[in-house]
Parts: sequence; C-alpha cells; structure tokens
Amino acid sequence: MVKRRILVTGGAGFLGSHLCERLLNMGYEVYCLDNFFTGQKANILHLLNNPYFELIRHDITMPFFIEADEIYNLACPASPIHYQYNGIKTIKTSVMGSINMLGLAKRIKAKVLQASTSEVYGDPLEHPQTETYWGNVNPIGDRACYDEGKRCAEALFVNYHRQNNVRIKLMRIFNTYGPRMHPNDGRVISNFIVQALNNRNITVFGDGSQTRSFCYVDDMVEGLIKFMDTPDDTVGPVNIGNPVEHSMLEIAEKILRFTGSKSNIIFEPLPKDDPLKRKPDISKAEKIIQWKPLVGLDDGLKETINYFKKTL
Ligand code: NAD
Ligand code: UDP
Repeated sequence: MVKRRILVTGGAGFLGSHLCERLLNMGYEVYCLDNFFTGQKANILHLLNNPYFELIRHDITMPFFIEADEIYNLACPASPIHYQYNGIKTIKTSVMGSINMLGLAKRIKAKVLQASTSEVYGDPLEHPQTETYWGNVNPIGDRACYDEGKRCAEALFVNYHRQNNVRIKLMRIFNTYGPRMHPNDGRVISNFIVQALNNRNITVFGDGSQTRSFCYVDDMVEGLIKFMDTPDDTVGPVNIGNPVEHSMLEIAEKILRFTGSKSNIIFEPLPKDDPLKRKPDISKAEKIIQWKPLVGLDDGLKETINYFKKTL
C-alpha cells in the first residue's frame, strides 16, 4: 500500500512534534521540516528511528520542493517573547513561508493547512469569538508582527484558493498547552509551572483578571487531522480551541495547588495590547468535523506538570 506522504512545517516545535507523532502512528509517512528557531531535537528524538519519519533542516522563508500529499504549515514562533525577538523574521515566516508552501501545494497538487490563530481577532470586541468576526488588531503594536503576519497568510491562502484552485484549510488555533512546551518561551502555562516547580514567584501580569481558554494538545492535534480530512469545499476558517474560559489568577492558583508549591503570586505590568479576554465559539467545528475538546483543564495541567517535573 502506498503511504500518504505528509509535510509538517514547524514539526520539531510543540504542536508540530505531537502532530508528527500522531500521523506516524496513523501509518503515514511524515516529513518534518524545521529551522530549529524555537523547535528542539528533543521533541522528535523518539521519532528519528522510524523509517517513515524524515527530518529536514530548512527555513520556510526559502523555497522548498518535495513530493507530498498534504502540508500542515505550522512553522512560526508562537509565544510573544519568541515572535517579538525578530519581528521582521516573524512576518517573513508567515508571509514568505505561506507563499512558498502555497506555491509548493499548487505545483504538487497537495492539500495545505494553515495554522492560523485566535490572534487574528486581536483584542476582541466580540465575545466569544466566531469565525465571522473580523477582529480588532493594532497594526503597529508589539503583537502586530505575529497577528498581521497571520492575517496576511490567511489572505494569501484564500487568494491561492480562489485564483489557482489550491486546496486550502484555514484553522484558527486558540491557546494550546501540554508536554513539550518550551520551558522558556514565556507562555503563561509553561511559565507558571516552571516557576511553581522551582519555588520562584508566579508572575501574574496586570491584575490577573484577563482571560484565556486553554486547549490540551491531544485535542488540538485531533482537530488538525480531522479538519485536514474534510472535503475540498470545506476551507474554513474554523476555530479550534477549548471554550472553557479562565482568568490568569485562577490559572496561577490551580498550578500552585497541583504542584504543592510554596511560590508566591506577584503582579507585574500587563504587556501592551495584551487581549483582555478570549474564548472560541466552536459551533462551526462541532458541525463540520464533529469535534469538541475532551481533556479538561485539571487533567491537562496535571499531565503538563508531570512532563516538566521529568524534564526540568
Ligand atoms: P513552537 O514555537 O513550539 O513551534 C513552531 C516551530 O516552527 C518551531 O519548531 C520553530 O523552530 C519552527 N519555525 C519557526 N520559524 C520557522 C521558519 N522560518 N522555517 C522553518 N521552521 C520555523 O510553537 P507551537 O505552539 O508549536 O505553534 C505551532 C503553530 O501553531 C504556529 O504556527 C503557531 O502560530 C500556531 N498556533 C499555536 C498556538 C498555541 O497556543 N500553541 C495558538 C495559535 C496558533
Ligand atoms: N501571562 C501572565 N504571566 C506570565 C505569562 C503570561 O500573567 O508569566 C498572561 C499574559 O499577559 C496573557 C496570558 O497570560 O494575558 C496568556 O499569555 P500567553 O503569552 O500564554 O498567550 P497569549 O497572550 O498569546 O494568548
């Protein structure tokens, strides 16, 4: 039997490594492309002996050619610290990277899925966010390199679809967490867990009343694969995330409780343009791919804490 060949860009990152692993377990051949900016070999070490797994060091801002049936375009730094480190590079990764992957998909007639983001909604004025909401993004703010890069990528995807019939899938991913998050990437769940396990102060930004809705990585990977498998006329965008909303103070308190840490909560200034609230409306995902998250926050946090206990 000929195996389905799947290219995963950003495959050595947090989400990408889980996706590669799941696709291999499903019996597919996986090409993992990464420039290792935020990705780590440790995330995929256990896959390297699999003859159906290939690791390619490459930067998607440069053209790339391969024969594949499907492309998951996940390459892009995702945490504010990392995407703001070199904002121009972040924009290039979303824009030139998308052009390169869309050009490849067009040439080889592959399906291509873009890992878009809830950040396209910016600091949302509509709550919860539905796919029809156009967003509230500051185009010259600190988060613009990421948000506007991802918005431009969405525009590129729909134009390649309309003009060139490229088979596209636009998925808007909401905050996701789990094992293999980078311990120093500054995202809230990894930050709080690492701080708690080291008995360091837990840094809540602002007064901690801002909200996010956190999806466990296994649920997210399931959503990615199910959406890729939809018929060609299903292009999205579709929100994938866990709609249960929590304040950052609640998250800090939960992590303190689950780790039994002696850390104190301290309050630091809220970063500029930090969205006040975020919660996906997932009725579209429920309808088109019969998807909804299965892992609750408490269980997911405990898994993630166990992972960091082992790796730190
Ligand atoms: P991550 O930083 O762990 O993974 C990104 C991967 O892309 C890394 O392995 C990195 O080395 C690689 N990469 C970055 N720039 C590249 C380039 N120019 N060429 C090749 N590889 C490059 O982040 P993640 O959380 O796994 O996110 C994966 C994707 O999902 C990203 O596109 C992100 O925007 C999107 N997303 C993630 C979340 C989340 O909560 N994790 C939320 C919304 C969207
Ligand atoms: N946050 C926090 N303390 C930290 C890191 C983040 O209070 O040490 C807050 C941050 O201000 C934001 C929320 O947690 O309101 C989620 O931040 P993250 O960077 O994880 O995701 P994003 O803001 O991109 O959704």
